[in-house]
Amino acid sequence: MKIPTLDLTRNYERIREEVADALEEVLESQYFILGPVEKAFEEEISAYLGGAQAIGCASGSDALLLALMALDVSEGDEVITTPYSFFATVSCITRLGAKPVFVDIDPDTYNINLEQLMDKVTSRTKAIIPVHLFGQMAPLEEVSHELESRGIAIVEDAAQAFGSWRQVEGEIIRAGAWGSIGCYSFFPTKNLGGYGDGGMVVSSRSDLAARLRTLRVHGAGTTYIHEEVGLNSRLDALQAAILRVKLRHLDEWNEERRLVADRYNLLFAEHDLLENVKPPKELKGNYHIYHQYVPRVNNRSKLSAFLEGKGITTRVYYPLCLHLQQCFGFLGYKEGDFPEAEKLSHESLAFPIFPELTVEEQEYIVGAAADFYAKK
Ligand SMILES: *Cc1c(COP(=O)(O)O)cnc(C)c1O
Repeated sequence: MKIPTLDLTRNYERIREEVADALEEVLESQYFILGPVEKAFEEEISAYLGGAQAIGCASGSDALLLALMALDVSEGDEVITTPYSFFATVSCITRLGAKPVFVDIDPDTYNINLEQLMDKVTSRTKAIIPVHLFGQMAPLEEVSHELESRGIAIVEDAAQAFGSWRQVEGEIIRAGAWGSIGCYSFFPTKNLGGYGDGGMVVSSRSDLAARLRTLRVHGAGTTYIHEEVGLNSRLDALQAAILRVKLRHLDEWNEERRLVADRYNLLFAEHDLLENVKPPKELKGNYHIYHQYVPRVNNRSKLSAFLEGKGITTRVYYPLCLHLQQCFGFLGYKEGDFPEAEKLSHESLAFPIFPELTVEEQEYIVGAAADFYAKK
């Protein structure tokens, strides 16, 4: 058996005709940038999120950069975030000359530790960027009121969490629709993924939404009249057309991912592996969409190599924490500064997960892991 971490070809099989029709429509119109298809997609996203305005852009990385630009983050400002995420969560901060301030993670959810976060707030703190890592939301209600009262913006990095939600006091809050600005990526491997790069920023604040719309077209509110220096960062119509098709199926696919995650949890327990494989935890009130299924494992590199030998590909997200990356050396962080994040970077192993993964494949994967630990 050969099992990749993600098999997009199986997903394409399910929507081949719908995608062909959607693409055909764009090709017939010859309208590729900021046209009706992209506008329709923005409106559908807005409806999905319960009303926040949605503004397409070229990537999730650009979404984060645009968000901080719209909040006027610049030199002298501090932005608090997690050391355990994809690089783009932090590069948007240093790009603008601001200073990233890291806070360790919660060992259970892998998300930023919100208790420790409040200790790092200073008079220079302009924003925080929580990441809803692997598809699970951070419980932002713990800090949102206090941050708001201090005028500190929340920019949600929801690149891995489109469709995820959290129930707070009986109300459903969707990932990305909570903070001042939410950021999504439509990179092909994400739960809602295009067939190329793409991203989106969303905001319920009309002042920020208007600024974001201007910033993505070189800061021009009116064509060729530039109020400020922005970016060239749009979501093109071909991607929007594909994403509209996928959005129609997304809730069903996320539900299938949750079934895959449940089945892993069950199988690891049935095979008596919980000493060696510690399944990820889902926080009460959360609807985790398992962009990744990431347990902590013993003997990671040997297990991963053993599984590879059996045709099963696993991946490490992330092998080196952001505070230890060479390009952020100037910040002066060192090993030991964020012990929980560093520990996780040595223990986490992402298993194959996608809606179409079969029961037989999962049984084969967990059986192989059981063989590995039995031999040890
Ligand atoms: C994928 C990702 C991004 C960046 O998205 P791109 O579309 O690849 O630029 C940012 N943050 C996180 C947490 C991501 O997983």
